[in-house]
This record gives sequence, structure tokens and C-alpha cells, in this order.
Amino acid sequence: MRYISVLTIAGSDSCGGAGIQADLKTMSALGIYAATAITSVTVQNTTGVQAVQAIRPDIVAGQIKAVMDDIAPKVIKVGMVNNAEIIRAIADTLSPYPHATLVIDPVMVSTSGALLMQPHAVEAFCQCLLPLCTLLTPNIPEAEVLSHTSIRSIDDTERAARHILQLGCRAVLIKGGHLEGQAKTDVLYQADTPPLSFSHPTVTTRNTHGTGCTLSSAIASFIARGSSLPEAIQQAKCYLSSAIEAGKDVSIGRGNGPVNH
Ligand code: PLP
Repeated sequence: MRYISVLTIAGSDSCGGAGIQADLKTMSALGIYAATAITSVTVQNTTGVQAVQAIRPDIVAGQIKAVMDDIAPKVIKVGMVNNAEIIRAIADTLSPYPHATLVIDPVMVSTSGALLMQPHAVEAFCQCLLPLCTLLTPNIPEAEVLSHTSIRSIDDTERAARHILQLGCRAVLIKGGHLEGQAKTDVLYQADTPPLSFSHPTVTTRNTHGTGCTLSSAIASFIARGSSLPEAIQQAKCYLSSAIEAGKDVSIGRGNGPVNH
């Protein structure tokens, strides 16, 4: 029996709720064989991140090459990339695979406020990774940094998305969850295609650790299973809503608990 595989290139979260651990749980739940390339090890629990150790760029590149040479997944998810050297190593290693579908979550700052991408790395991220990217999934603060615009309402997301699309990625899904007091809507922008909105019910819970990682991994999984981009986003949002609902009353740790896969 042949499995459908996806490679996740991301950081490790010791408390198991975000990063590589969330990716593995999501992909496994969706019937995908997940291979991993670890970019950084974070020391964290549900109350916050205490330390970040970036992995040597040649070791990040080696993990990717080993997986691509052997298992050859056609879909790749990229999460936390801590510094410019790692970003360049990932871009160089993936350049022989121009037909791979890349879903990139531009992880910059954790909900608890820890810096997960160094500020100097943003330029390398835009120059090296965005031109390879099929779908970018920024939240509002990340879209603001990447587009150099400020977003006050969902109407401002179009201008930000047009800036980001000019950097070379083929599609951008701006997640509206950070807009206070407004309906929670995510909008998909692609050049030459009208924007597509995806709304979702709001669940009141502290247990939202790892939601971004879960969404991007689920999108990558549904694409690998054959869905179109809009279908994969819709299906991934349903998966994430169920995982948030299933985890809303679960008590794990003293802080922001994880979603439940
Ligand atoms: N740690 C790692 C390794 C991550 O990749 C991420 C998000 O992508 C986080 C922590 C932050 O997760 P959250 O903001 O949901 O707490």
C-alpha cells in the first residue's frame, strides 16, 4: 500500500502543541505519512517559550535532501525558520524541486510574545522563500510585516495581499483572527482571481496553542490528497474548528493549552 507523504520543515515545540509536533498530529489524523526536517528546537511549555536553539543550516539542508532523495513528497509545509542562514539553506535545497507545492506559514512571534523569526531574517525570507511558495498563510501581524502596510480591518487585507503577491508567492491566505471585535474571516488572494472569503465560528477558549501550524499542515495534507487550493483551505478550516472544539475544555498545562487532534 502506498502512503501519500508530506514533508514538514519546522521547529520543535517541547510541550507538543505547536510546530513539528502539531504538524505530525495533523497529518497523521488526515491519513498522511509525515516526514520532518527540524529547523530549531524550542524550550517551551503552555506558559511560553524559554529558549530557542537553531539547528545548523547544513543539518537542516541534509534532512530535507535525505527525505526528498528517498520519499520524494510532492507537498511541503514550511513553518518556523529562525534565521537567514537556515532560510537560504532551505531555498537552495528545494531549488531542484520547482514542481513541489510549498505551503508556508511565516511564523514570526508566538502568542506568548517570543521572537521565533529573527528580524534580520525577514528580508531573506522574502527574497529566497516567497518565490518558491504556492500558498503563504500569514496572520494579520505577519501580513503587516511582510507588506509594510497596516491592517485595521478585513478591507485593508487586499492592499497587503497585493504587496505580498508581488514578492513572488502564488497565493496568500490572510487569517483575520487577530482583528478584534470583527467577524473572523480569512481571505484567499491570488493574482488574476477574485478574492475568496472563508468565515468560521468563534469558539471562546484559551486552548489555541498551535492553531496556525495545524491549519497550514491540514491545508498541505488536503492538497496532497488531491484537493484544489480553495477546497483544501475549506477542509482544513473545518478540521481546525473541530480540533479547537474538541480541545476547548481540556486541561493540559497552566497556560494556553493545545488544540485536540
Ligand atoms: N513554537 C513553534 C515551534 C512554532 O512553530 C509556533 C508556531 O508556529 C509556536 C511555537 C507558536 O505557537 P502559538 O503562537 O500558537 O503559541
